[in-house]
Amino acid sequence: MNELGPGRPSKTLLEQLPFAAHIEHAFTPRETALYGGANHVVVEEEVRIGRIHRHSRDALCKLRWSFWGLNRGGEDHVPSCRRCIEIAERAIADPGSVKKPAGVAP
Ligand SMILES: [Zn+2]
Repeated sequence: MNELGPGRPSKTLLEQLPFAAHIEHAFTPRETALYGGANHVVVEEEVRIGRIHRHSRDALCKLRWSFWGLNRGGEDHVPSCRRCIEIAERAIADPGSVKKPAGVAP
């Protein structure tokens, strides 16, 4: 179960993120393609990571509306989208680059 990259810590990516997020599975119209859907990291609050700006319910890699379909799935989901993981790891490695314009959640 360690296909996400080298040096994977025991804590999950989500647990380490400096903002609230969960996993959602994206379906693609081309399930037979090499890239048949993926588990994306979906933020639960407005957040900026460097130049990336995401609103609640956007995935880290893309804005929500640009997905063909995003569905919250089982709890065992781990992120599998390379781009989401990349951005999440950057946020974890450099929490100073993460800004929450909306401030503290109610
Ligand atoms: Zn993604």
